[in-house]
Amino acid sequence: NNAGSVHLEDIDTLSRHSFAPCMRQLHEHLRATHHMRYGGRMQYGLFLKGIGVSLEDSMKFWREEFTKMMDIDKFEKGYSYNIRHSYGQEGKRADYSPYNCIKIIMSNVGPEDKHGCPFKNYDVLNLKQKLLNWNIPISGINEVIEYVNQGHYQLACGKFFQLSHGVKTELGINHPNQYFLESQEILGG
Ligand code: SF4
Repeated sequence: NNAGSVHLEDIDTLSRHSFAPCMRQLHEHLRATHHMRYGGRMQYGLFLKGIGVSLEDSMKFWREEFTKMMDIDKFEKGYSYNIRHSYGQEGKRADYSPYNCIKIIMSNVGPEDKHGCPFKNYDVLNLKQKLLNWNIPISGINEVIEYVNQGHYQLACGKFFQLSHGVKTELGINHPNQYFLESQEILGG
């Protein structure tokens, strides 16, 4: 059990260096809009639990963001149950696992949603812009896009990992939590 191994004050930095694009986009979206729809809360919330954010810290994290846009009562009534539920503290107390790539790639993403896998869900122009913002060099972006055009989203992610960590080989990615661990190992986190 790694609960508590990642602290809230480190999440912004970690999101820039060690979060897979599917999680980084959700983090940026939450910080920018102080809201997230259900699909994103599930995808991101379980990921955070998986990397070692405690239930207490998760609650604080979501509450601080959401209550910039709603009052605390509404948050407690509408959202806190789900967060405790994800940690197995409500309902049948199941211990829910963070989603793997296949599940994320196959998820239903509506026009208003920010969850899912960016390599699949962004159109190419938006994806290129995002990769530029995230400091991937143009030549590398073209390599990523080549995989995307062939429908190889996880290979695109492995290429992204390689480029953003400056390592020699592409990494096989099958889970955003694996992405995180491999990244932390390289960065010595
Ligand atoms: Fe996330 Fe997997 Fe897509 Fe990478 S390939 S962005 S880890 S869902």
